[in-house]
This record gives sequence, C-alpha cells and structure tokens, in this order.
Amino acid sequence: MTEHDLAERLRAGDRRALARAITLVESGRADHRARAVALLDALGHDRQALRIGLSGTPGVGKSTFIEAFGLMLTGQGLRVAVLAVDPSSARSGGSILGDKTRMEHLSRDPRAFIRPSPSQAQMGGVARRTREAVALCEAAGFDVVLIETVGVGQSETMVAGMSDLFVLLLAPAGGDELQGVKRGIMEMADLILVNKADGALKPAALRTMADYAGALRLLRRRPQDPEGFPKAMCVSAVAGEGLATAWAEMQALVGWRRETGHFAAARAEQARRWFEEEVRAGLLAALTRPGPARDALHRLGDEVEAGRLTPAAAAEAMLAQLGRG
Ligand code: GDP
Repeated sequence: MTEHDLAERLRAGDRRALARAITLVESGRADHRARAVALLDALGHDRQALRIGLSGTPGVGKSTFIEAFGLMLTGQGLRVAVLAVDPSSARSGGSILGDKTRMEHLSRDPRAFIRPSPSQAQMGGVARRTREAVALCEAAGFDVVLIETVGVGQSETMVAGMSDLFVLLLAPAGGDELQGVKRGIMEMADLILVNKADGALKPAALRTMADYAGALRLLRRRPQDPEGFPKAMCVSAVAGEGLATAWAEMQALVGWRRETGHFAAARAEQARRWFEEEVRAGLLAALTRPGPARDALHRLGDEVEAGRLTPAAAAEAMLAQLGRG
C-alpha cells in the first residue's frame, strides 16, 4: 500500500490503517523512516484532538481509570485513543502496559483505539514514536488521545511535553506523607486525581486529596492556569465516581487556555521542541551510522589519542565538518 492510500484510509478513521501507520513510525529501518515522514506529511494537521497525559505508579488504577473514563467519553459519542508509554519496556524487552485485556471493554469499543507500548523501543525513540503516534491518532479523527505512562524516570516530563493537559493519578496514602511524589512532577500536573475514594479507603483518599490541595496552593501560580488550578480531587475508577466531574474540570481548564491563547502557544512551543529534538537525534544518528561523519569522528579521535590534536581542537574540527553537512 502506498503512503497515499494509507493516509486516505487513516483519515477515514480506519483503525487497522492507524495501527499499521503506528507500526511504520515505530520502525527503526531507514526506508520505513522515509515512508513515515512522507505519511505524516501527507496527513496534514488540520485535525486536533485533546491530548491528555496521564501518569501514575503501577497499581494506582490507571487501567481501571482509563477503561471507565474512556467508556464514559465514548458513551458521549467521542472517539478515544489510548497510547501507552512504558520506558521500562526498553530495558526488559517486555511491556508492562502491553496487555490489551487490561481495558477489556474499552478495547472492544468501536469508538476506541488502544495501542500498547512497543516492546523493543529504543529509549531515545520513545518520545518520537509517541509524538508521531499522537499525530496519527489526530489525523484519524480521534477527539481525545490519552497518553499513559508509569511514573518512571523522565517519562512524565516527556509525556507532559506532548500533552495539552497532564493528569497525575494517586492512591490514598496511609500516612500523612505526600507519597514521595517529586515536586517537579507535582508542578507539571494540571489535575491530581486521588483514586480509590470508595469503601474503606475513602477517608484516606479525602485526607490525601486535602494534603495535595494544600501543597498545590503553595506552588507558584503558572500563567497558563486559571484561578483554582492545578486542582486535586477524589475519584473512584471502580465505582465510576468523580469521572464526570474530572472531565468537566479538564474541559473548563482547556476552554480557558483556548480563550486566552495559552493552548495554541503551548502547542506551538511543543512543535518547536519536537523539531529541535529531531534535529538533535538526527545529528546523533549521523555519528553512529556508517558515513562521513562517523569516519571523521574516528579519524579525529585517533588524532586526539595520539596526542596530535587537543580534544578541544578536534571537537571544533568535527563540528565544522557537521556544519558543512
Ligand atoms: P495500574 O497498574 O495503575 O494500571 O492499576 P490497575 O488499574 O491495574 O489497578 C490496580 C488495582 O487497584 C486493581 O486491583 C484494581 O481493581 C484496583 N483499583 C483500581 N481502581 C480502583 C478504585 O477506584 N477503587 C478501588 N477500591 N480499587 C481500585
């Protein structure tokens, strides 16, 4: 199938075409890369989904939440795509978030599309793959793209950097500690949802929510936030409680950001960062794949090792060579 055909089927909302296109952008092969770029170009960017980043450590209830929240949205007629980002899979070769049966009902919903994280993604490739998968979902006409990540390392920063809003899912804490959630992650959150606010866990959930609400009030108000945000609230994914309110809060926040221009400004900045990261990744790739750049790196390295050039002078020469292309 040509990129043109694939693009047409994808834009018509064909989920198999979408899955195929994502496989293409995930591929490490050079000829696939060229086709992926052509495909992304052919799709244009006239369609826009709401991109929601969602993070939480394993066990807080992410899959349960996404299943319930996703079904609520598809029940309203919205089309929902779920993309998983699982940086640990790059190490283990297996995907924690890979199991589609985690969201059994949502995965069978014709208005939903669930894509587990690839099992063999290169660490540096995770960001590219996810950004491009988001773009493909948007082109396929999805209204909401949920980008899910486990709370590991840099993955939150990455996901927040490609989302319109970032949701942090927490479980009720036993004690009064803030669950070791790093300040940086809290500062990224637009909405903190304390899950499992049901049954015996409800009092603890309410306490945890109050703790976080207090902590959020101490943060400096960000220009992209209206009064009252970032916000902490309780939900129960199992009971389906608080989900409609959470969605209403998300819409209120996004509505405000759209009206004030923050939404478009954030997207423009994200696009610029995406471009810069692609360039950086391309330069790094040029140094490792066979070719003049890698040859020059080796040759100059030999000169440095032999004491004929200083590291600084060799680096200058190398950069000059890259500048010439
Ligand atoms: P994930 O690892 O973050 O995807 O978490 P899961 O969705 O797999 O949930 C982990 C466990 O928490 C499961 O046993 C769920 O049944 C349970 N769980 C998830 N949401 C809730 C909730 O709202 N209330 C209660 N009581 N348990 C929940």
